[in-house]
Amino acid sequence: MTRDDDCFHENRFKTLAVGAAENATRPDKGGTSDVIPPIHLSSTFEWGSGDNANEHDYSRESNPTRAALEKQLARLEGGEHGLAFASGMAAISTTVLSLVPPGGHLISSDSVYSGTERLLTDFVANHLGVDVEFVDAREPENVATAVDSETALIWAETPTNPLIRLCDVRSIGDIADDHGVPFGVDSTFASPYFQAPLELGADIAVHSTTKYLNGHSDSIGGAVVTDNDEIFENLAFSQRIGLGNMLSPFDCYLVARGIKTLPARMEHHQENAMAVARLLETHDRVARVYYPGLESHPQHELAAEQMSGYSGMLSFEFDGTLVEIEAFIDGLELFTPGASLGGVESLIEVPSLMIPDEVSHGSATAEIPETLVRISVGIEDVDDLCEDLRTALP
Ligand SMILES: *Cc1c(COP(=O)(O)O)cnc(C)c1O
Repeated sequence: MTRDDDCFHENRFKTLAVGAAENATRPDKGGTSDVIPPIHLSSTFEWGSGDNANEHDYSRESNPTRAALEKQLARLEGGEHGLAFASGMAAISTTVLSLVPPGGHLISSDSVYSGTERLLTDFVANHLGVDVEFVDAREPENVATAVDSETALIWAETPTNPLIRLCDVRSIGDIADDHGVPFGVDSTFASPYFQAPLELGADIAVHSTTKYLNGHSDSIGGAVVTDNDEIFENLAFSQRIGLGNMLSPFDCYLVARGIKTLPARMEHHQENAMAVARLLETHDRVARVYYPGLESHPQHELAAEQMSGYSGMLSFEFDGTLVEIEAFIDGLELFTPGASLGGVESLIEVPSLMIPDEVSHGSATAEIPETLVRISVGIEDVDDLCEDLRTALP
């Protein structure tokens, strides 16, 4: 069954997310019939050889709780191999460090999460001497023009944080294929429920599980899923042996638990976000709303084509001063001002006020408007959310 099949999204994905069959640890498999996989905290496992050899030796390299989550992540993305990392940044940095040699060439979309931008500019470019080239990936042509014989990785985020820009994964995947260059997609904003980068032609799908996958704002983690055996071996070696940046068993348990309700949460996030986007779009102190579900989003058609839903993240440009924005934020009761996203509760962030150091400091990357407000729309009652915004907006 392919991810393009409607049935997959309606039924199969939800079944995979709950993952009951995978969870059972039956006595005939050496287990105790737990319906939920136990948290294996053991750092080491009794050594066995021959027929008694263990699947796991030492928990940095592999651990039963992590292995169960990695399998679940791979299945959700429709990929072969999954890896669970200590953070989204650990997933991204391990991917970049494993695939791009010092002095190599890396192409990235110019709109990316601020941490990714800093990783690529400060560390990968300045420290490792990698030629990092940011391009406006909304036009696949710009990626095609930038590729050369030294290109070791094409990187894109879609939709992007916080500008909610998209790139055409299928077109860029074709370009990457033509040149034999691995193509990685940060699909955090969509979650595996609304977007399947591997099915669209990417080689690597990456998530900050901190966001929608865990979904309850109580764990930091990251995931990589790939179909490519060589890329997997390379990343697994870096993660397990060299860098040691795996997700802890307890966090694996939390993410696995969160995933069970991912489909239900994502449907609700999207429904609420659409209502909030429509409300903001008609407000006279809102200059512009960035939400891929709105017909006014310049890439709405692409969103409708490559995503099966529009998720719960939106941004808008406030028509007014930063002082007015602060008053608006102060007046909100249900939207907590704060970083992060993808949890059940609504969060609001003004990048220029709240994370000024991280707002696009590189001139090579897309500029974030000073009055941009980003909202992670939660799953509260939608009328309460709209009422709160209406009351707090001037
Ligand atoms: C949050 C985020 C990351 C980084 O993930 P962490 O878990 O905070 O390390 C990467 N990409 C995107 C799109 C994000 O939103």
